[in-house]
Amino acid sequence: MSATRDVTDKRLTARQYADNFADIKPPLDTHQAAVESDRCYFCYDAPCTTACPTHIDIPSFIYKIRSGNLVGSARNILAENIFGAMCARVCPVEDLCEGACVRNTAEDKPVAIGLLQRHATDALLASGEVLFARAPTSGKRVAVVGGGPAGLSCAHRLAMLGHDVSVFEARRKLGGLNEYGIARYKVLDDIAQREVDWLLSIGGITARTGQRVGVDIQLAQLRRDFDAVFLAFGLGAVNALGISDENVPGVFDAVRYIEDLRQACDLSSLPVGRRVIVIGGGMTAIDIAVQTRQLGADEVTLLYRRGPEQMGASGYERELAQSHGVNVRFWSRPRRLVLRDGEAVGVEIERTELVDGKLVATGRTQVLAADMLFKAIGQTLVPDALDDSAREILDTKAGKLRVDENRRTSLAGVWAGGDCVGVSKDLTVAAVQDGKLAAIDIDRTLRA
Ligand SMILES: Cc1cc2nc3c(=O)[nH]c(=O)nc-3n(C[C@H](O)[C@H](O)[C@H](O)COP(=O)(O)OP(=O)(O)OC[C@H]3O[C@@H](n4cnc5c(N)ncnc54)[C@H](O)[C@@H]3O)c2cc1C
Ligand code: SF4
Repeated sequence: MSATRDVTDKRLTARQYADNFADIKPPLDTHQAAVESDRCYFCYDAPCTTACPTHIDIPSFIYKIRSGNLVGSARNILAENIFGAMCARVCPVEDLCEGACVRNTAEDKPVAIGLLQRHATDALLASGEVLFARAPTSGKRVAVVGGGPAGLSCAHRLAMLGHDVSVFEARRKLGGLNEYGIARYKVLDDIAQREVDWLLSIGGITARTGQRVGVDIQLAQLRRDFDAVFLAFGLGAVNALGISDENVPGVFDAVRYIEDLRQACDLSSLPVGRRVIVIGGGMTAIDIAVQTRQLGADEVTLLYRRGPEQMGASGYERELAQSHGVNVRFWSRPRRLVLRDGEAVGVEIERTELVDGKLVATGRTQVLAADMLFKAIGQTLVPDALDDSAREILDTKAGKLRVDENRRTSLAGVWAGGDCVGVSKDLTVAAVQDGKLAAIDIDRTLRA
């Protein structure tokens, strides 16, 4: 193992950075969109609509693209999913709408629903049209905690329904992981902020950024001052590896690094190791592995303790990692860090296997050298927005908030959704649906 960790910025030329972080799925032009929309069979009871967590009427929006009515098409999309432009870029479509497309067969390929959705919603955002009007004011006030996709989806629907909404967001910018988490090559051209700006243009939503609930203002106060509260504070912490010394230099939190990557004006300023090891098997693990390769790391190895079928990342994401030269090692888990002068310079890994359905360590070990080691084994809730009176809604076993099908918690006047609840997979589109469902139920309750 080398004497010092080889971590440096400026590994690539300006041209290489630009090429490596170019749009991973470039947009369709008008002709391509016309051809692709023509491939849709416009199925009755369309399986793609059922498979979309927000249940967008997909055949209708595609039909409108075919007839050149892009604003009408965007209306169909955004009526169900106000983050239609982001979701078009970040949804694992192969597992959702496109996976269910009747053309998704061995001889054919599914209609490119994500790209068509992007075509319509990008045109709408470029036009600046507000699209949705507010209902007459209800005189009711709702507090939303967290300005990510769940919180803002709820806020927009409530504003449409005539309520006044205040969004309390701990960070400087709204957008949540759309702004700070999604891989950079999926979301170019400041699309996350442009979509938030468009969403806020409906009016009736006050953004209170830099306000951390639990620190700057308490939940009990919000419950007194507002008619309803929606909790959508996501998952703020990364899970621990469960091995000793894991907080030494050389070990990094993947989500924090991705945050720096998303916010960096100049990618060449980001230091990256020559040999990178990523521990995890979900979307975050793939994202950090691919992005460190794109920043110029020579060798990136992803360690996952189970096999490909158990990985949280989709087949598309796995292929993405492999096509970018990431070496994926299944059935391997970290056993201990190799330290030199208090810094991690490698990791001892151990092979695992399934015995009677249980994951066991085999005792076969190997040491891998690393200049950077990333923890990406899932995120966990930081319940700092909950005060003592509200901790009863925290399911301590599952580590998330408990809600019913309308996203109500057991606390009077408090709803919750997005990653901080345990209803569905941690995806942007699922968070958007939670926010929408909660808003509809809050409206129903406030008008009863
Ligand atoms: C690295 C990474 C990559 C991902 N890639 C994809 C992808 O490609 N496709 C996909 O579908 N999903 C992806 N996801 C998942 C997706 O980003 C989340 O499911 C989604 O953002 C959840 O939305 P949310 O609103 O619940 O939470 P978040 O987006 O996390 O938003 C929560 C907001 O609450 C704020 N907040 C936290 N605590 C407080 C407090 N006490 N007071 C006030 N505000 C607070 C936070 O600052 C944040 O802005 C990814 C996740 C990660 C981590
Ligand atoms: S929101 Fe996502 S899952 Fe739904 S239709 Fe659009 S791309 Fe497909």
